[in-house]
Amino acid sequence: MLTGYSIAILGGDARQLEVIRRLIELDATLHLIGFDQLDHGFTGAKQEALDDVDPKELDAMILPVPGTNLQGEIDTIFSNQSIQLTKEWLEQTPEHCLLFTGITNNYLTNLTQETNRTLIPLFDRNDVAIYNSIPTVEGTIMMAIQHTDFTIHSSTIFVLGLGRVGMSVARTFASLGAKVKVGARKSEDLARIHEMSLESFSIKDLKQHTHDCDILINTIPAQVVTAAVIQNMPNRTLIIDLASKPGGTDFRYAEKRGIKALLAPGLPGIVAPKTAGSILANVITQVLIEEIGERGNE
Ligand code: NAP
Repeated sequence: MLTGYSIAILGGDARQLEVIRRLIELDATLHLIGFDQLDHGFTGAKQEALDDVDPKELDAMILPVPGTNLQGEIDTIFSNQSIQLTKEWLEQTPEHCLLFTGITNNYLTNLTQETNRTLIPLFDRNDVAIYNSIPTVEGTIMMAIQHTDFTIHSSTIFVLGLGRVGMSVARTFASLGAKVKVGARKSEDLARIHEMSLESFSIKDLKQHTHDCDILINTIPAQVVTAAVIQNMPNRTLIIDLASKPGGTDFRYAEKRGIKALLAPGLPGIVAPKTAGSILANVITQVLIEEIGERGNE
């Protein structure tokens, strides 16, 4: 239980609602900042402005998945208030105060280093990335269906990258009956692709392979789908770029060639916010309970 543990939830989207629900169940004291337009309240959680919260009382703070922008502003879909995380505010929190975010950036990393607070970027964790790959794949399937006039079954689908997302994408599309070819750069990944009974190729040879590509799904956060690669694709090819912004595709050239190319960020939050929130809630509560245990043993 988190009885007596004080946590501020700062902004976010529908995923945070699941986190809030779970923390209330565990009896934490919650301060909801940036939720004033939420159409239903939460019994046992206070809606407040950041200035009304006493930072000295906080044991943890939970930022939305994107964290802050490079100016320290936090986005929320449940309020018009702007929320700004500053050094002056953060250094008033107790030293043990944990700061959770989905991903970090230079602002947030520097801020927590300067104030000597512990930052936990949840998406850096393998377990979160693997669980999160499940709704990501479902969102990719949705996009493939919406943007093509042919079935996934019997299509030739290229998957670039065999990381946490790439592996789930490749396996799921293969199980839907597609002919899946996976590009990677490490020889161990090429071996794993073969073991999965999929066709493998070295990513550096990508442009020699794409002449029969129906759908290309990129998970590599680097410019790999270049103009030379796109030039060899049939006109019907759909590119779904899952890699974090700006993606790994030459979108300008794709448009010029008349190839549909879509950057598809944040699919878990779009197609399955409840599941995506639940994945975050599970890890946050696990970390908090471990932390309380460790502090109790000190
Ligand atoms: P990951 O486990 O780190 O996998 C990344 C893959 O890209 C690995 O196979 C890696 O190969 C490869 N790679 C990286 N740089 C490369 C380069 N320069 N050339 C060739 N291969 C390279 O990451 P992940 O968790 O699968 O996530 C993949 C991307 O999807 C990330 O950008 C992530 O933010 C994004 N994402 C998007 C969504 C969405 O909704 N669109 C959801 C979740 C994640 P090596 O192992 O050889 O480095």
